[in-house]
Amino acid sequence: MAQLELDDRGVVVACTACGQKNRLAFDRLDAAVRCGKCKTELAGASTPLDIASSSDFDQLIARAGVPIVVDYWAPWCGPCHMVAPELVKVAARSNGRFLVVKVNTDALTDLGQRFGIRSIPTMAVFKNGREVKRTTGARPAADIEAFVTQAL
Ligand SMILES: [Zn+2]
Repeated sequence: MAQLELDDRGVVVACTACGQKNRLAFDRLDAAVRCGKCKTELAGASTPLDIASSSDFDQLIARAGVPIVVDYWAPWCGPCHMVAPELVKVAARSNGRFLVVKVNTDALTDLGQRFGIRSIPTMAVFKNGREVKRTTGARPAADIEAFVTQAL
């Protein structure tokens, strides 16, 4: 995780071939992009992104051109740790159709409160700036993908 970074214009990913950082603009997260330095095709947003601040979260939700799948979790939550590797699989297979992000509700308590997160793990799908679907509890990658597909 956390191989992705967020800035005010998009998601920054490091090229797996040369390490060059490349920005994927918020409105083109689903586009295939090649590294600006070595032209290797970038994996894109294919790993879960750790949200560092609530303002990053708000910007991403408001500006991303693809749906966002949010995993609300906390370090002390056992089922959350079971879900983490499943979300890695989901993100790896997303093919740019959506972006998976993780919100640590212990660190970002304001987000947990604002969205009324009462149990974790909770997963929610945001589309066009608003939440369209939510579920709670740990489940395998295939079930998460079915949930996301229903929401899209
Ligand atoms: Zn490169």
